[in-house]
Amino acid sequence: MSLNEERLETTIIHASTRGEYERKSGAVNVPIYLSSTFHQESFDGFGPYDYSRSGNPTREALEKSIATLEGGARGLAFASGMAAISSAFMLLSSGDHIVVTEDVYGGTYRFVTEVLPKFGIDHTFADLTNVEQTAQAIQPNTKVIYIETPSNPRLGITDIEAIVKLARENDCLTFLDNTFMSPLYQRPLDLGVDVVVHSATKFLSGHSDIIAGLAVTKDETLGNRLAFIQNSFGSILGAQDSYALIQGIKTLGARLMQSSGSAQKIADYLNAHPLVEEVFYPGLASHPGYTIHSKQSKSPGAVLSFSLPDRETAKAFVENVRIPVFAVSLGGVESILSYPATMSHAAMPKEEREKRGITDGLLRFSVGLEHVDDLIADFEQALIKANNIVALIN
Ligand SMILES: *Cc1c(COP(=O)(O)O)cnc(C)c1O
Repeated sequence: MSLNEERLETTIIHASTRGEYERKSGAVNVPIYLSSTFHQESFDGFGPYDYSRSGNPTREALEKSIATLEGGARGLAFASGMAAISSAFMLLSSGDHIVVTEDVYGGTYRFVTEVLPKFGIDHTFADLTNVEQTAQAIQPNTKVIYIETPSNPRLGITDIEAIVKLARENDCLTFLDNTFMSPLYQRPLDLGVDVVVHSATKFLSGHSDIIAGLAVTKDETLGNRLAFIQNSFGSILGAQDSYALIQGIKTLGARLMQSSGSAQKIADYLNAHPLVEEVFYPGLASHPGYTIHSKQSKSPGAVLSFSLPDRETAKAFVENVRIPVFAVSLGGVESILSYPATMSHAAMPKEEREKRGITDGLLRFSVGLEHVDDLIADFEQALIKANNIVALIN
């Protein structure tokens, strides 16, 4: 059976070996090649590996695996999601311009606003959920439209095909940060996107134990250009972390299925709670991106955000929940509650933050693998306490 016929949940288990097990032993796992350099048998012709920055067999197994899962020509593994994202932007040249989704990840915001301008690369932020506004942001020197969908932290939904069409009409490439969905739930390259980037720190690795990034190109030529940047800039993923990520990816299907199912129930619960002002989750029919998301993705995923009336209520809620960790990041087996205003979006000035709806009462919740009834019971007691505490203060 070809890879195209089977479901991704099956492919994902075998993608790192593709049935080609390590020759000496038949080990079912990819060996961790801890070698910076490789002995060359012949004076005249060198083997496939020479130095691990340029290529390492463990990293290569991971890179091939993510390329298969995203349906791309070439996958590349980096030291972090930001290393993957900034390396992708290095495909650009001085004098180029990019259009970036306005609710972009905080670290990407920092790179685009503080690093790229030093190299003469200019940007315009646009509301990518609005195709007309995006079109207006395009300039003659625009080379890339940068998409995140669902976006962070308010789960805004961009119509991928509409933005790809607009980009092609204007001779631009499209980059898409697929961290929230993973290839299991959304395959942007199939919709015409040129480069997919990931913070593999999140759902792909799944255990909050490593920092890693991945990039996949649709096209071989662009993939070779990005591989050249990966080798030149050198922010590659090490062999041990590559191995950890290969193992994490194998359980992605099971993890996402459970977490996303729980996320839907928690979103429904919060949506009906009187203290919760608004719930942002593309699995709610009331979400403005519900129809578009359902068209381009297989599931609303495992991240949601919700707003409480103010900072005091959010604080009292966080101080009273027992199960989730209160931390930055997402996509772990443990549920992670975060406060975007001072965590993921700390790099963004308050004024910019508020323009994007990242208010002082907004919390983001990444649903882990705990029993959903326990999570809801925990939220229930914490919301009651938060309500009482705030009533006392006022
Ligand atoms: C975490 C994250 C990043 C950055 O990835 P790192 O692995 O932390 O460098 C980029 N985009 C999104 C959507 C993220 O959540």
